[in-house]
Parts: sequence; C-alpha cells; structure tokens
Amino acid sequence: MINKKYVIGIDMHGTLLDYEEKIPKKFHKTLKLAIQRVKPFASIYTCTGNDLLFVKKQLGRLFSLFDGHILETGCVISLDGKTEQILVKEEELKAINTLKKKIDEVGFNWVTEGNRRRLATISLFTNTPKSHMPDAQAFVDSVGFTNIVSVVHSSVAIDIKPRGYDKYTGLRFVAKGKNTIGIADSQNDASLILYSDFAFLPENVDPELVSLVESNGKLVVDISNAKGLKQNQVIKASKKEVEGVIQILNFISDHLEVKT
Ligand SMILES: [Mg+2]
Repeated sequence: MINKKYVIGIDMHGTLLDYEEKIPKKFHKTLKLAIQRVKPFASIYTCTGNDLLFVKKQLGRLFSLFDGHILETGCVISLDGKTEQILVKEEELKAINTLKKKIDEVGFNWVTEGNRRRLATISLFTNTPKSHMPDAQAFVDSVGFTNIVSVVHSSVAIDIKPRGYDKYTGLRFVAKGKNTIGIADSQNDASLILYSDFAFLPENVDPELVSLVESNGKLVVDISNAKGLKQNQVIKASKKEVEGVIQILNFISDHLEVKT
C-alpha cells in the first residue's frame, strides 16, 4: 500500500455540482472511477459553505467515496461522514448568532432562503450572490461586525463567517502536514486555490477568481499544456463542473502514478 501523501479538497457548488445543485447521473460512473484511481495517493474531501446533511443528500451513493467534509466554509468539519465538529471558538459562535438575529430583524428582499441549517455561519441564498455582496458587507459594517466576520459568496449564496476560517484552513486542518490540492471555481474558494500546494479550476471558473490568482503571481495554465503538479501554477480544466473534476482527478493520477 502506497502511503497517501496528498489531501484533495473539492468545492461543491460550481465544481462538483451543477447550477441545479446536482451531479448529473451520466457522470457518476466516471467520477467514481476517477476517485478510486486517485485514492492510493490521496484522501478526498468535499469543501462547501453548506452543512453535512446537504452534502450527503446531494452526493447520494457517491457520498461514501469521500474521506471527509470541510463544511460551512471551513468553520465545521466531518471526519466520519456522520458527525460534525465545530472549529469555531465559542465567542465567535456567539457573535454569529447575534448577527443572525440582526439580519432576521431587517430581512433582505433579495434573499430567497436565509434559514438553511448552519452550525457556525450564516448563508443567504440569492439568485445573484455577487451583485448583493456590497449590500451584505454594508449591513455587516453598519452593525459593527466588520472586524469580526467576513462576507464571501459562491455561485448560489452569500456566506458570512467568523474571520480567519476558510475552505483552505479547513483542508489544512484535516491534512495534518500532507500536501494539499484544491479544486474550486469561485470567490469563496479563493483561499483553497491561492494557498493549497497545488490548485485546479474547472472550465467554468469565475473570471474574478482567475484575475485574483494572476494578481497573486500564479500562472493559470490550460490542462492540455500542463506538465505536472507545480506550486507556482494553477491548472484550468477544459471541461466544466464535474466533468472538469473528473479530468483533473485523472490528471493528478497520471502524474502521481508516474512519480511512484
Ligand atoms: Mg464553488
């Protein structure tokens, strides 16, 4: 048995999941094969702003292929697929609860769903998350929470979380010193792409994330031109969402199989 030296974090919305929050059935078999192929080298975690129940429901039969889950944007983890562990400190939890009450009091008319189960964060689902980022941030500032929480967005929601936690800090927590690999598409995944040892983007990546990667001195390389895993570059798949993930996992296996 080869010793696993890598930990892979795969974002859910816009990466594993399509805009309907699903992995189309026709890709289940190839995704399973790609995960099984990379397993001798790496543990695999989902990374999401959502909670464990959501991940379990959306992944269905594919759920058991994952070693664990980075939940609520790095504020919660599950190492067994059954229980959730809150990484956030008690005073940070209290602050989130206070802020949630304040948000519920005003109510934003652009929020389609603001009360999904959350243990340590606030998720405001909306049809156009990016365009409402200034509104959410302005509210946070107006109630004096600017230095306590940060506001991020995915393709489906604005997430508010205690400062200092993100998908990368969650992945680093479970990696325990192993090499980290991040696969993700949008702004709330930026840490995963910028700080993981190696990083990958699906074809449908948000152009804002690409600009951010480039302004941080990393080169975005198309997967067809990529030669292997390199720390100063971020590799972009030629396929979108789960098809991109399958392509990326196979790329990782191709290069790790050669090395070992
Ligand atoms: Mg995403």
